[in-house]
Amino acid sequence: MEPDSAVYKTLLESTKAIPWKIDWSTMQFAYIGPQIEQLLGWTPESWKTADDWAMRIHAEDREAVVNFCISQSKAGADHEADYRALTRDGEHIWIRDVVHVVRNPDGSPNALIGFMFDITERKKTEARLAELQKELEALSYRDGLTNVANRRMFDSALEVEWANAVNTRAPLSLIMLDIDYFKQYNDHYGHIRGDECLKQVAQLLSQSATRSRDFFARYGGEEFVLILPECDEKAALQVAQRCRALINEAAIPHAKSQISEHVTISLGVATIVPSPMDQRIAFLEQADRRLYRAKQLGRDCIAVDE
Ligand code: GH3
Ligand code: MG
Ligand code: MG
Repeated sequence: MEPDSAVYKTLLESTKAIPWKIDWSTMQFAYIGPQIEQLLGWTPESWKTADDWAMRIHAEDREAVVNFCISQSKAGADHEADYRALTRDGEHIWIRDVVHVVRNPDGSPNALIGFMFDITERKKTEARLAELQKELEALSYRDGLTNVANRRMFDSALEVEWANAVNTRAPLSLIMLDIDYFKQYNDHYGHIRGDECLKQVAQLLSQSATRSRDFFARYGGEEFVLILPECDEKAALQVAQRCRALINEAAIPHAKSQISEHVTISLGVATIVPSPMDQRIAFLEQADRRLYRAKQLGRDCIAVDE
């Protein structure tokens, strides 16, 4: 049994998708579903020509969408286009227009018939997901406690600066530093105050190096690291002295430190003009050995050799 045209009409006009037809020779709407008024506010009668459609596309999408649809239609190719349609009260709604080209026996277009789908919710979801992805990337490079760059970010930054130093033959410096007697700090003041102290130290140290490519990160626990690109031994030592001075001047009380009444740090400084044969990890280990040396020398000091 064949459905009659009343059945077709009921079906077409009760779906959420909005059916339409444009005659190619006149570029006039032969039909548009009455649901269009509910979606966009424009009455079905107001959709007269293809220009009415074009003018109701958001200005930023219009040219690309119109050109795409015309060229696809001329080629006789079915196609779909996403665009923002303007509503009567000046808002916009994301539409996916799915278009079928009805062709004459000679292949030229006879009419376009299609469905408009409201994809606003989907677009919102996509935009929110993209935002979340960005947030996640930002978070995964940031230390949750101190809000400075984390170890992962440090590894990436050192990789980039190392490669750059190999190419430019410019000296690259690294400062590794560690809070003295921090275990005792935690034991005496508790972990909450310990966390506060770490935040404050990170905050202070992030001001120690001022050139745009200088890079500061929490290396782990109560250890921090500075990458100083295009910076020789002498300049790196000056930055290390500034770090030490910043912490000493802040005078954070540390009743259980064996060397001071305040929180202090020990620092190891290394500088290299890396050749392609050098290993990044060996350079990192050198800075770490010097930090260890500073601890052996009595803490609250800077070591520039082992
Ligand atoms: P040294 O002078 O030799 O560096 O002694 P230290 O006590 O600072 O060194 P050690 O490595 O023995 O202890 C580091 C302590 O840092 C241990 C741990 O409880 C503390 N710590 C590491 N990460 C955190 C953190 O995120 N929060 C707090 N509150 N403490 C931390
Ligand atoms: Mg320590
Ligand atoms: Mg440590």
